[in-house]
Amino acid sequence: MDLRPTDATAKAPSAGTPAGRAYPFPPYPYRLTKGLTVWLAFKACAFALFAMGNILGGVLAFFVWDPWLLWNILGPASRGFGPVASRFRTKEREVWLTIDDGPDPATTPRILELLDAHSAKATFFVIGDQVNRHPELAAEIVRRGHQLANHSASHPCGSFWSAGPARLGREIDRCTDAIVQAGAPAPAFFRAPVGIKTPFLHPQLAKRGMLLLAWSARGYDSLLSTDLAVRRIVAGIEPGAIVLLHDGRNDIGRAAVVERVLDHLARTGFRAVIPPRDSLCV
Ligand SMILES: [Zn+2]
Repeated sequence: MDLRPTDATAKAPSAGTPAGRAYPFPPYPYRLTKGLTVWLAFKACAFALFAMGNILGGVLAFFVWDPWLLWNILGPASRGFGPVASRFRTKEREVWLTIDDGPDPATTPRILELLDAHSAKATFFVIGDQVNRHPELAAEIVRRGHQLANHSASHPCGSFWSAGPARLGREIDRCTDAIVQAGAPAPAFFRAPVGIKTPFLHPQLAKRGMLLLAWSARGYDSLLSTDLAVRRIVAGIEPGAIVLLHDGRNDIGRAAVVERVLDHLARTGFRAVIPPRDSLCV
């Protein structure tokens, strides 16, 4: 999808706000209006059918569009609300490692050692509150040639799905502020906590010129054993895969998953890179 603005409503961020920083992504059109308009139209039709006494038709009209809405909220790579990147184009044996939920003194230094040992580069989707607690770790991630990206300020995984535009904006901006205060560039990418979106998220990202990033390989490493998580992840390793890994939460098991995935990449001739922006499939 072309990320360039296509209409007069796609204005550049104004100076003096967090969105006024030099983000590498231009604002893009988002699809919220079209999808939600259809969804609301079906709800209105349902009430009209109820009023006419057509109960079965009303029930069908009321619920028929809900699976679409649910899929776009719950599906990390679903694109009904706007652009989401979940892989990148490459002819090489390359993958993009994305590491969520840090920084954390219990795990980040170990993960950085592992990445260095494999000459691997990664993008760390950090939590803003964690960056404020450990700015030195965030700076160290960048110093070693990795990238920081935005994973919200407080990682409200239980309530992010219900956040309105103002709260979403605060979650995004507070995390960006923490990253910038740690000395890193303003992030270009956002990842929703546990990958659950709200219909209001894309407009907030569009205003800030940020892109939502999902993944193509994940291991549920917070839920499954290390063995099972690694098996699931390596099954998804292929050129252009975006791999979801985890840092933080004082969980050293998460670093063990990173270690075994890096070993697998080395054995199978894959490199871990940060791909160029124009290679992303959105
Ligand atoms: Zn997370």
